[in-house]
Amino acid sequence: MAAHQPRHVPVIPGKRFAVLDPATGETFDEAPDQQPDELDAVVGRAHEAWRNWRADPGARTIALLEAADAVEAAGADIAPLLTREQGKPLAESYKEIARTAARLRYFAELAPQPQPIMDGRPVRSEIRWRPLGPVAAIIPWNFPLQLASAKFAPALAAGNTMVLKPSPYTPLATRLLGSVIATALPEDVLTIVTGHEPLGARLASHPGIRHVTFTGSIPTGRAVAQGAAASLARVTLELGGNDAAILLEDVDVERIADRLFWAAFRNCGQVCMAVKRVYAPARLYSPVVEALAQRAKTAVVGAGLAPGTQLGPVNNAAQLARVEDYTAQALADGARAVAGGRRLDRPGYFFAPTILADVPVDSPVVTEEQFGPVLPVLPYGSVDEAVEAANDTGFGLGGSVWGTDLDQAEEVADRLECGTAWINHHAELSLAQPFAGSKESGVGVAGGSWGLYGNLRPFVVHRPQEA
Ligand code: NAD
Repeated sequence: MAAHQPRHVPVIPGKRFAVLDPATGETFDEAPDQQPDELDAVVGRAHEAWRNWRADPGARTIALLEAADAVEAAGADIAPLLTREQGKPLAESYKEIARTAARLRYFAELAPQPQPIMDGRPVRSEIRWRPLGPVAAIIPWNFPLQLASAKFAPALAAGNTMVLKPSPYTPLATRLLGSVIATALPEDVLTIVTGHEPLGARLASHPGIRHVTFTGSIPTGRAVAQGAAASLARVTLELGGNDAAILLEDVDVERIADRLFWAAFRNCGQVCMAVKRVYAPARLYSPVVEALAQRAKTAVVGAGLAPGTQLGPVNNAAQLARVEDYTAQALADGARAVAGGRRLDRPGYFFAPTILADVPVDSPVVTEEQFGPVLPVLPYGSVDEAVEAANDTGFGLGGSVWGTDLDQAEEVADRLECGTAWINHHAELSLAQPFAGSKESGVGVAGGSWGLYGNLRPFVVHRPQEA
């Protein structure tokens, strides 16, 4: 018998799979194990629902605003469930819910604008924007609600319907969110499906889907793009990152240390745009390592539902194994764990917040995406060297530069090969800005009006001035 039965979710008979609490490593609930052959019917219903949903932008705005209110009203139901399956501190779960409601409101009000084409010809040509049809979304386990809303808010506002598949590690809060939102939307406009592979692969390649929007790792992104090629559906891919933070000579270490630490360790380091490598000038290397290590040693690690917890567990056993392997390999290669360096001796998937010094530059914890509470700090000689090291990667999601002279910091930031570069911050995103990884970190643009138009196709009406 499931320990927790979300109030809004109808019980579905049939096969179910276990959902684990990463703070204990034990099963605490179950989710429907939907099979790939169910997708024909689900996508068919999404197609039926699209006929009406596409027709009335005013009704869409009202429905999406109502959905935002419903999400906020259900916050106290959704937040503990999210913390239970994902591991993050409860306050962070509430932030995801607030962001989800804000995103629904932002896109509800963002109507696509017809655009005249003025090219000197004596014709009146105009671009009118048309929705694409049923869209598929596939998302990971690190920010289940925020990332779901980053998919469905622009897609539904544009007049598409959506079938969304959360990660099997975090199916429950997304399912609950979907059923809360469904109270404000016509039936089958947003459908959440849960299950194991090949459910996602089948969804990405389903012939009834016109756009596949995916967030996750680079290898899975490649597989999704290959799958979508079968029906030539549009793809948007938001993939992994290995963001560098470059500290400049004039940085005030104590002033920025908290911000830098949490830019790396928020959500237990499981953030696509977390700081994953720090480059410090050789003169400041020891103070930077010490300032970060001191914070790693004093951060409160615990279950997300325990009051006062700042860092929860790693979300799942496979991810914990990756974090352990990368750390062990760095230590075997001669790195020093100035804080942490090991798994915590308690049930659940806890890893001590870890600061690594003297790490070889070719160690996987530097060259790959660790996606966990482990941060390598590397010394550099010249700024050119630091920029070259930061850019010497196939990843290109974000980056940051930290210093007191903002003009110099901006000059250095401008040289980073990535989608977003921050100065004295990292990973702060506005709903209105484009979000696009460069190199292997992404294809297509999400966020702001780019996210809306990414879910639309231009339709041009060409009319002469005389009959
Ligand atoms: P993942 O790629 O393993 O899984 C992502 C999703 O894809 C899950 O729902 C999974 O069930 C599904 N999936 C797995 N195999 C599939 C297949 N063959 N076809 C279709 N779907 C399939 O990623 P993860 O481990 O869940 O998440 C961590 C990764 O996500 C990290 O690399 C992180 O950087 C990335 N991420 C990127 C962003 C961004 O916006 N760029 C945001 C968050 C996370």
